[in-house]
Formats: sequence, structure tokens, C-alpha cells
Amino acid sequence: MSDIQSYAAPRTLAEAADILRSGNVTIFAGGTDVMPQMKTGKLKLQPTLMNIRHIPELLGIAQAQGTVRIGALTTMTELLNSDLVRERFHALWQACDHFASDQLRNVGTIGGNICNASPAGDTLIPLLVHDAKVVLTGKPNGALATRTMPLKDFFLAPGRTRREANELLIAVEMPLPPADFVSEFFKFGTRPALDISTISIGLAAQRKAKTLQNVRVAFGSVAPTPIRAPQTEAAIEGKSLDDDAIAAAVAAAAKEIHPISDVRASDWYRRELVHNILQRMLVHVRDH
Ligand SMILES: Cc1cc2nc3c(=O)[nH]c(=O)nc-3n(C[C@H](O)[C@H](O)[C@H](O)COP(=O)(O)OP(=O)(O)OC[C@H]3O[C@@H](n4cnc5c(N)ncnc54)[C@H](O)[C@@H]3O)c2cc1C
Repeated sequence: MSDIQSYAAPRTLAEAADILRSGNVTIFAGGTDVMPQMKTGKLKLQPTLMNIRHIPELLGIAQAQGTVRIGALTTMTELLNSDLVRERFHALWQACDHFASDQLRNVGTIGGNICNASPAGDTLIPLLVHDAKVVLTGKPNGALATRTMPLKDFFLAPGRTRREANELLIAVEMPLPPADFVSEFFKFGTRPALDISTISIGLAAQRKAKTLQNVRVAFGSVAPTPIRAPQTEAAIEGKSLDDDAIAAAVAAAAKEIHPISDVRASDWYRRELVHNILQRMLVHVRDH
């Protein structure tokens, strides 16, 4: 903590943007990434530590005009307790259900998960298949300005995003899906709780008779960033989900992922997981 020269706890977005504009700020939400990364030396704290937990505009889940907005400070526990999330964004609900432990879910925020930009970040995969957009705000020219960007364009590399240093992520927005929309998330880790994903898969689509339309597939922990998988999506878009279509999707996925070998799994093992679990998820969606 010796690197910190000042501590700020703004109560408005305008105040937070002013602090960010003055430069050299570390943003602190739940702290569940900041604290361990600071201790291991992965994160070098900036001279100003800004606690954003007192800014009301960052709170809550709201629905208006076909769009659902989730404030950046929304915790995993709040997402898990939301009927709207459970019923209409089921993959996101499943990701929160498999997230760390109760203690971590109570403080870890969706904004922190997004801005930490880990390829293994669990909420990122369901957000990608729900076509989420990030909402960023700052005062680049002295006045508060907000911009939105599709989440799929937000990630650049592990830990790196298109967020400017003077911007705050204030929310994530998603279209309210139709009632016949299915969304599923599966995470494989080497132990059932408190584990980082070895791989994760998100699948979302509108079910029309035996076909899937508007298909979205995303993968975690198989590339430097979380990824959408357009060729996998195309292999099943509008098709009857028979064994041939499922085999084509699984073959397309193998070309779209670029896993590495690390302490959690080898490249080969990750490929086997994606093959088997994607196949299992597609059969599950077809038969239920
Ligand atoms: C034991 C343990 C288990 C974990 N298990 C999981 C797991 O199962 N799945 C998973 O995905 N993650 C896991 N994590 C990682 C972590 O809990 C999540 O990434 C969490 O969502 C981070 O949220 P936070 O509010 O604590 O973020 P913080 O630690 O406060 O911030 C994370 C990063 O985002 C930045 N930031 C935060 N909020 C904003 C904002 N609004 N605007 C701009 N920048 C911002 C911070 O500056 C920092 O760089 C685990 C961590 C630990 C320690």
C-alpha cells in the first residue's frame, strides 16, 4: 500500500471523471482482483486509489424500452438473486452460480470482471452471447461524455481493453431477449468451486421448432481474450440440430480456438474439452 499517495471516494460520476482526468488513478470496486494482483506484484498501484463504491449511478439492474442495463457495481450475488437475470439471461445466471465462493460473489462486481479482462472471466462469455455493450464515461474535453461499444470489440489482450485511462465503465447493456430464447453457460475447472475456468462456453439462440436462429457462441480460456465464434455460429444457424450439424459446429469450433498450455491444462486437453462440451451443450439444447 506504500505506493498510494491519495485516496478518493467520489459520490458522483462527474467527480469520479474529474479524478480520472487528473491521471495516475487505480480504480477499486470489489477489490477481489486488485488486492491479490497488488500483493503478487502483477498490478502496480497508481498514486491515487479511487474507491467507486459510493457512486449511485453504478448500482442496480434496470429494464427500459427493450434494453436491460446492469450497473458496473452489481455484484455476482445481486445477479444471482435477480429473477430477470435467471429467467431471461440464464447463461449469465449460471456463470454467477459457478463463480468462486459466496464471499467472493458478495463483493466481486460485473464491472470489475469486465475491466480485469481475463480470458477466463466468467461473466464475459454470457455477456458476449447476449450481445452486450459496455457503457463508458469520462471527461476527455472537460464535459462528461458517454460512449458505448460492443463487448466483443472491447478486449485487446489479457488484462487490456479499449477503455481509456480517463474512463469509467458505468454499465453493461443488453437487448431483452425474446421469451423463446435459450442461453446456456458451461464452465470446466479442475475442482467444483473457487476455480478459474480451464475452458468455458456460452451458447444462445432463438429456438424455432427444431432449428436455432440468431445463434451466438462464445469461448473463454482458449484465446488471449474471450471470443465469439462466428464460424461455429454459422454451422448451426437456421439448421435442424441433427448429428451432422452438431459435428459441423464442433469442427468449426476447433478452427476458431487457439488455446495454450499452462498450469491448468494443456492445449490438447482444452481442445478435447471444447469438442466434448460443445457437443453435449448442443444435444442438451436440442433435446430440451
Ligand atoms: C479466490 C478468487 C476466486 C475467483 N474466482 C473467480 C471466478 O470463479 N470467476 C471469475 O470470473 N473471476 C474470479 N475471480 C476474479 C475476481 O473475483 C473477478 O474478476 C471480479 O468480478 C472482480 O470484480 P471486483 O469488483 O472485485 O474488481 P476489482 O478488483 O475492484 O477491479 C478489477 C479491475 O477492474 C478495474 N475496475 C473495476 N471496476 C471498474 C469500473 N467500473 N470501471 C473501470 N475499471 C474498473 C480495476 O481497476 C481493476 O483493474 C476470483 C478472484 C479470487 C481472489
